[in-house]
Amino acid sequence: MSDEHPLDARLGDDDLPDNALRPRRLDEFLGQKEIKENLRVFVVAAREREESLDHVFLSGPPGLGKTTLATILAHEMGADIRVTAAPALEKPKDLAGILTTLGDGSIFFIDEIHRLRPALEEMLYVAMEDREIDWVIGQGPSARTLRVPLPRFTLVGATTRPGSVAAPLFTRFGITIRIDFYSPEELSQIVRRSAGILEVELTEEAVDMLSRTCRGTPRIANRLLRRMRDFAQVLGNGTVDRSIVTNGMSRLEIDQSGLERQDRHILRTIAEKFGGGPVGAETLAISVGEEIESLETFYEPFLIQQGFLQRTARGRMITEKGYGALGRNTLDEEQRALF
Ligand code: ADP
Repeated sequence: MSDEHPLDARLGDDDLPDNALRPRRLDEFLGQKEIKENLRVFVVAAREREESLDHVFLSGPPGLGKTTLATILAHEMGADIRVTAAPALEKPKDLAGILTTLGDGSIFFIDEIHRLRPALEEMLYVAMEDREIDWVIGQGPSARTLRVPLPRFTLVGATTRPGSVAAPLFTRFGITIRIDFYSPEELSQIVRRSAGILEVELTEEAVDMLSRTCRGTPRIANRLLRRMRDFAQVLGNGTVDRSIVTNGMSRLEIDQSGLERQDRHILRTIAEKFGGGPVGAETLAISVGEEIESLETFYEPFLIQQGFLQRTARGRMITEKGYGALGRNTLDEEQRALF
């Protein structure tokens, strides 16, 4: 969706959308075992009771499968799906227009739900809870409020910034799911599945390397696989093997940990301009030429999860491992004391 990692943009838009590779059923959604098992229970229970699924809140970094899960839920429930993103909904009538025309039992997917405007958020509260909306007709003293009933529907709200979602909205979701980065083992399964669909030949060693350099993110695994396929086709004999991946990654400026140039720039800036930190997010964002939102949403989660960067009360700090990634000496005593 629109929350593309900048790496995706750099790798090219030629393979957007990823429809051929997008799993359609829960069984095809690899990894994330607990999430899958729970969802299966909720789906079966709702189907047995012939009810629509409770509203679902999905959070996690981009490319981990939020949109995919929403479409899978629709398939599993045998329901239609309407897809939109909060920034596309400008006026109450935009939201009302969708809500009142949903098919019975539909899934309504709103991406980037943290960006919903307050007036629309309030409309959504009533829609989620009472299955109706208040519609104001006319203006001034003659204005009247009409209650419009809605069909049964399941709202699936997704966000990369769960902390920015208003509490009254968040608490109206019956099912809340946080998707975390995938393990290399889970990503190996995803790479093998995608290679099968795309009919790419690749060695086990290449599977292993790709699953470790894709930032724990299926979307990036798929993108890298496609690029490696290009390199193998043009520069090799068609098979993606160790030397193709090594060569390809260095051409794309991605290192063994999956860090790309901008990640290293962020770490180097903290190390060199700010003495290793702590440095406030805003100052850091300006220094590396990023919006604070993209710093926090795209770069930091992976850098923190991998232990290259730490968030402290006083700001961001590079860790020993971060220095290691830059090939530099480690923290001095004073910085060590801050952790
Ligand atoms: P998000 O909405 O969280 O940004 P998407 O649902 O668009 O992420 O996922 C990006 C792509 O990654 C999908 O098109 C799909 O091909 C792949 N993908 C995501 N999760 C999985 C998974 N668990 N198993 C297999 N492929 C996945």
